[in-house]
Amino acid sequence: MADRKKKSRKRNKQPEQFAHCGLPVIPDRALESDVDPGRVFLIRYIEKKWVNNTVLHYYFFNSPASWRGADNQKDAVRSAFRTWKNLGIGLQFEEVANASDAEIRIGFDPGGSWSYVGRDSIDIAGNPSQRTMNFGWDLTTPYGRDTALHEIGHALGFPHEHQNPHTGIVWDIDAVNDYFSGPPNNWDEGKIYHNIIRKIAPAEVAGSTWDRDSIMHYRFGKGLIKVPTEYQDKALIPKAGLSDMDKAEVRKFYPAPSKKKLPLLKPFLSHIVRLGAGQQLDYEIRPEASRRYTIQTFGTMDTVIVLFEDDNGTPIYLDGDDDSGTDYNSKIETRLISGRSYYLRLRLYYSTGVGQGGIMLW
Ligand SMILES: [Zn+2]
Repeated sequence: MADRKKKSRKRNKQPEQFAHCGLPVIPDRALESDVDPGRVFLIRYIEKKWVNNTVLHYYFFNSPASWRGADNQKDAVRSAFRTWKNLGIGLQFEEVANASDAEIRIGFDPGGSWSYVGRDSIDIAGNPSQRTMNFGWDLTTPYGRDTALHEIGHALGFPHEHQNPHTGIVWDIDAVNDYFSGPPNNWDEGKIYHNIIRKIAPAEVAGSTWDRDSIMHYRFGKGLIKVPTEYQDKALIPKAGLSDMDKAEVRKFYPAPSKKKLPLLKPFLSHIVRLGAGQQLDYEIRPEASRRYTIQTFGTMDTVIVLFEDDNGTPIYLDGDDDSGTDYNSKIETRLISGRSYYLRLRLYYSTGVGQGGIMLW
């Protein structure tokens, strides 16, 4: 056994060995067993994405000392946020000085690089003293710059591309376990399964093609992949930076904000929702009276709805609800103030047909 291990380590040795992003092992959210598989696929595809036009606040830990990053490392992360933003997407990124104001909380603890995926940053890692992202190696090298883009890709809700079932990859599982259980990764089998071997439900990935240049794809040394056979003898190294499909996918979920005035969500009027899966509708609310209001969807739809208050052009998160996979409707009950302005953003997971549901404020 020891011999075999040694031999296969030697076989897998590349000119350079790279540590890989190792995501925390988070089980899928439980859904009722009677939810239709097509509906489950759509939910899995969309559930970790933010609603578009959200401001994501990020924070760099300065303590404990082992989590503190040097200025050039923080600058590499800031630059990676700008690279994503410069695609013209509707998400905004803002650095903040308090961990409790941040959805994305970043440490630089040497060793592993990882991030929570999309909304897991608030749903799973809700405690402000907890990191939602870590960088464990130098970000100023070409590989490090890609690491920063990759972890932010996770924070925007994107999974690993090499786990796309359309890749057709057949792993040499012994070689993969051997390689990733050794340095510099030192992962256990659960982590290797979660990050590499596990296939992600088909609708959770972008399309039917395999984007081997995706920023969300690992580089793999030769001998870890049995099929396609070309990777038995050569390494699979994605091109540096964001691929064309990465750009298309992020723009699909987070398109540039519309210049048009938003439709008003007026009390006691039902608004029919005509959206495809994954698409989003935005409304403005201008209450004429200060009182408690209810905002609720109706019909056979799965949606996430999020309410923001406008603060001189900055949307402040107030409340949200997500009814995906349940028989309930998304619902927010809150006090709104006359003279102020609010935004209601609704992203559709699933509906039985276009226009089969709506939303109402009362
Ligand atoms: Zn990753």
